[in-house]
Amino acid sequence: MAKRLIYLAHDNLHRLHGALREASPESEEIVMVESQRMLTSARWHRQRLFFMLSAARHFAQDLRNEGFTLHYLKAPTTATGIAQLQDSFSSVIGVEPSSYRLSKSLREIGLTLIENDFFLTSRSVFSSWAESQKLLKMENFYRWQRARLNLLMDEAEPLGGQWNYDAENRLPPPKGEYLWPQYPKFERDEIDQEIIEEIGELNLIGEISEMSWGTTRTAALQQLDTFLTHSFAKFGPYEDAMPKDQWQVYHSLLSPYLNIGLLHPREVVEAAIKRFESGDIPIASCEGFIRQIIGWREYIHGIYWHFGEDYRRKNYLGSKRELLPLFENSEKTKMACVKTQIRDIDQRGWVHHIPRLMILSNLAALADVKPEDFLAWMRRVFIDAADWVMVPNVIGMSMYADGGMMSTKPYISGGAYISRMSNFCKDCQFDPKLRVGEDACPFTTLYWNYLSKHQALFAKNHRMFQQLNGLKKLKDLPETLERAQEVLSKLENGEI
Ligand code: SF4
Repeated sequence: MAKRLIYLAHDNLHRLHGALREASPESEEIVMVESQRMLTSARWHRQRLFFMLSAARHFAQDLRNEGFTLHYLKAPTTATGIAQLQDSFSSVIGVEPSSYRLSKSLREIGLTLIENDFFLTSRSVFSSWAESQKLLKMENFYRWQRARLNLLMDEAEPLGGQWNYDAENRLPPPKGEYLWPQYPKFERDEIDQEIIEEIGELNLIGEISEMSWGTTRTAALQQLDTFLTHSFAKFGPYEDAMPKDQWQVYHSLLSPYLNIGLLHPREVVEAAIKRFESGDIPIASCEGFIRQIIGWREYIHGIYWHFGEDYRRKNYLGSKRELLPLFENSEKTKMACVKTQIRDIDQRGWVHHIPRLMILSNLAALADVKPEDFLAWMRRVFIDAADWVMVPNVIGMSMYADGGMMSTKPYISGGAYISRMSNFCKDCQFDPKLRVGEDACPFTTLYWNYLSKHQALFAKNHRMFQQLNGLKKLKDLPETLERAQEVLSKLENGEI
């Protein structure tokens, strides 16, 4: 009897999940496809492409070692690659892909798609939650998840009496000398070297020398263990801090592995809870981490599918500015906070969620950058930037381009927030307290400009009341708006 063919996507790299869950070399063969369209469709970050391809080829090697016949193809598109083999098999199965584009092309060639179990919340379960809600608030989803998955619960109540320890988890960077945890560096093997050489021929951005990302299941498990042993206890208090000399803080660095399937959220959550139960992890840290995995990550994924394919094109505020040159080149800005983030991205394709939201996205929103352009940039440069991650994060959360379908207010701030949560401002030529004049912090000037420009739209939003009230009290609003035009023009020219 003809065997079945399993199509294994580059983000389904787990032996115990998806189409491989019950697969055996006797009854299934496997196909993986490197789509040339995907590789050349954008100027990706080198680390992003390297990580994705190398992890896939390592995983393919593991499956061959287990006895599977594995067809690793390079084809113009994923669909054309699968189609080359399709007729020789009784059927071809795959997992529901994690993007609209791939879903459409796999359906067109008649693949049988099984439910995507790389998340803790299936698309249909998320939809039934969403349909029961008036507003799709993450906090409500998260509490529902805690109860549904019975995590950190004391019967029907949250363990420790609180759902949320955010108030304890907002410390700025510690002052003076501070010993941060060290994370592993991963030596490059033959497969890694082969990929580095191959992608050397493509038109890409960013550096490749940084070795913070492993490309195997063993490396992913090592990173998980390192985080739990050395960082987990202090993850919570410093999760929003942005120290200028320390890129990882106490973050887990697990999102790249989770997003390609090398780790499953269930095993990460179970390992974290086990460590918490050993008694040396404060509940604020454990709750903060569990919130990221079962709350934010699952919520963002659910939102991506719930709001549909056209959600990515929303532009509620009518933003029209082209992507600013500083996003492509750290030399095009004098802002210390932004320059550091762009340099860090160049180096390793990663900065943690607060610089992404409150520096990079905040600037894009305040400068009225087209959401679609900013989304494309975020997708290209971050190592963990799956489509389902970036669309809701950019369109819904950071740019408010959906007009409040996801977030109840825009995530914007002036320099004061960045000054409080980082130590960039001391070394910056701008002053976060000033909004007018050559020394004014561009974030602060543009923040008031944004509020002034959109005040009519936000007038009935009670969560914006305080900010709009502040705007009414500004005595130098005309001068601030004038300075904002100078700032915007300098940003366009890469001069500020
Ligand atoms: Fe960033 Fe403004 Fe602080 Fe400079 S002063 S580091 S631009 S927030």
